[in-house]
Amino acid sequence: MANLFGYFSNDIGIDLGTANTLVYVKDKGIVLREPSVVALDTVTRKVRAVGDEAKRMLGRTPGNITAIRPMKDGVIADFDVTEAMLRYFIQKASQSFRAPPRVVIAIPSGITAVEKRAVMDSATHAGARKVITIPEPMAAAIGVGLPIDEPAANMIVDIGGGTTEIAIISLNGIVFSKSIRVAGDELDAAVINYMKRAYNLLIGERTAEEIKMRIGSAYPLDEELSMEVKGRDSIAGLPKTIHITSQEVREALSDTVAAVVDAVRTTLERCPPELSADLVDRGFVMAGGGSLLRGIDRLLSDKTGLPVTVADDPLSAVANGTGAVLNDLSWLMQNA
Ligand code: ADP
Ligand code: MG
Repeated sequence: MANLFGYFSNDIGIDLGTANTLVYVKDKGIVLREPSVVALDTVTRKVRAVGDEAKRMLGRTPGNITAIRPMKDGVIADFDVTEAMLRYFIQKASQSFRAPPRVVIAIPSGITAVEKRAVMDSATHAGARKVITIPEPMAAAIGVGLPIDEPAANMIVDIGGGTTEIAIISLNGIVFSKSIRVAGDELDAAVINYMKRAYNLLIGERTAEEIKMRIGSAYPLDEELSMEVKGRDSIAGLPKTIHITSQEVREALSDTVAAVVDAVRTTLERCPPELSADLVDRGFVMAGGGSLLRGIDRLLSDKTGLPVTVADDPLSAVANGTGAVLNDLSWLMQNA
């Protein structure tokens, strides 16, 4: 019964992603899922909108408003804005709480000690009673159900918006991890460049992302796809529509995809031999929105010779991982 009054529900887990922030409330599950975007007044620097509302403004703002992604490259571009964003999400998720929440935050593994401190301070200012951080790949591995407490290699590849995080975990610890600033955003940028080069067509980030999601791929498709794209002709200056195929988009994405493949291979080369041996059978699991790019699992499997699985709900893996550790905060304090 106590639950009805919220006594038990005041711990939350946050996936502070470069593209999306998710909040998990203990005993409830994921209650919030919004883009990590903040719209600011350019003159007063006052926050005008956060999350979904702010993302709709990206690329469409008048001169007095600017929409920014404070975590864009997996590093904190602007501490004040990150804090405002965290405060908004924490307060939104904990409205009905009777006591300030304890907060577990998953942060990119490439973040510096200063940035980590800043995230923790921000969460405290935002009303958290206690703040604990967990490296994002660790949360992802827990979230997808890997047995990370075993003395065996558990490998996770998390392709997000700003960063790809690769980690090998054994006995509750990260044996090796690598974070590169090549992920979904770079794929979008590759589409923008291709459209400009091949068709003199200027498109925005949101259109590029839509193309990537609708017809993008990393491996030849059984049935190739196509779509119409609207943008502005860079020479005539007027709106224009063109037709593109999935083969073209795959070609446009190929260099960026190759950089991810390279990072995975480098990680495998650094893996201690006993753990490499484990990976031959266990393979690795993919998480993050980027793992939804068609055929990326197949390509990675081809290039590494390992079995590759995409998590059931890759966009929620990290948040679910933070949720899982909420039930055992003592574990987290010892291990993460
Ligand atoms: P982060 O953890 O960095 O916030 P997410 O795991 O939320 O990132 O993933 C966001 C990225 O996943 C974005 O770049 C988005 O374009 C990409 N993404 C989401 N769905 C798809 C899809 N179906 N195909 C390809 N990319 C996708
Ligand atoms: Mg993520």
